[in-house]
Amino acid sequence: TASEPYILIPGKIHPRVVERLAARFKLVQLEAGSTEVAVDLAPLITGAAVSGRFPEGLFDQLPNLRIIANFGVGYDGVPVRIAARRGIVVTNTPDVLNDEVADTTIALLLNTLRRLPAAENYLRAGRWVAEGAFPLSPLSLKGRHIGIHGLGRIGLEIAARLEPFKVKISYHTRRPRADVSYAYHDSLLSLARSVDTLISIVPKTAETIGSINGEILEALGPTGVLINVGRGTTVNEDDLIAALQAGRIAAAGLDVFADEPHVPAALLELPNVSLLPHVASASAPTRDAMADLVVDNLLSWFERGAVLTPVAETPVQG
Ligand code: NDP
Repeated sequence: TASEPYILIPGKIHPRVVERLAARFKLVQLEAGSTEVAVDLAPLITGAAVSGRFPEGLFDQLPNLRIIANFGVGYDGVPVRIAARRGIVVTNTPDVLNDEVADTTIALLLNTLRRLPAAENYLRAGRWVAEGAFPLSPLSLKGRHIGIHGLGRIGLEIAARLEPFKVKISYHTRRPRADVSYAYHDSLLSLARSVDTLISIVPKTAETIGSINGEILEALGPTGVLINVGRGTTVNEDDLIAALQAGRIAAAGLDVFADEPHVPAALLELPNVSLLPHVASASAPTRDAMADLVVDNLLSWFERGAVLTPVAETPVQG
């Protein structure tokens, strides 16, 4: 019907989002990379579903846009300040991915310390038979002191999973949490000085960009390990590569990179890193749950004028 809302999908998104939205809305899909909306359709569009990125140039083309539903908890690719100024609500997908991302973080931590992916490659290449036992991993999780950079929804789940590993846990956030007993540090440098393992799970913001630099890495020390599952921009990759090459830290495990999908060639050449292609939440069940939350935010908006999970910058009562 003519009263059906039009939803814009600029670029690729999880197929379940498209399938469920198509049952209720008219959809306008753009090729990945295109930011031109047909002029006859643009004024009809009142909602958008995006996978991490909403191109700024779309705002002026969409005078009646009211809601942007983002697939993903991180929404650094959505210009939320502009949205807020224009009275457009932005939603993300918090909580439904906490367990998956925390599980993956533990796997990446163990892979990094114990070199398990390299050990499996060794077996598959026939080297166990030809050369004998895989070399001992120089590092172990035993006895480590882990610093969590960002103790939010996901950071808390990472900490909860670390407890049975009998490691010591400390953390840094801008404000201390009243509901945990882990040692708090009011600066990242202070945290890095006191721990030997740093797990970063902070959003991409002006403050976090480049915050894990040479000084922080040096503070972790020569047995230091960095695990980054938040955003690649948090780490100064040149400083990280230099620190790994010089042995100023011992190893790194990365799920995220500054310029995805491009990974610096120097990282690929280092034996003491474990690298994943941004897969922390990437299981079929968790991605289905994220897809459902995108759709449910849009349904809730167009049926009740409220959303389930607005971002902090565009608060709209649920
Ligand atoms: P939350 O908002 O719940 O937690 C963010 C945490 O970071 C809070 O503890 C916050 O505490 C802290 N923080 C924010 N800014 C700073 C700062 N400048 N210095 C120190 N600490 C800071 O977010 P989630 O846990 O849900 O998600 C965190 C991020 O993880 C997402 O934004 C996303 O970018 C990333 N992510 C990556 C995934 C992947 O696939 N690799 C999957 C899911 C998420 P305070 O405000 O007190 O500083």
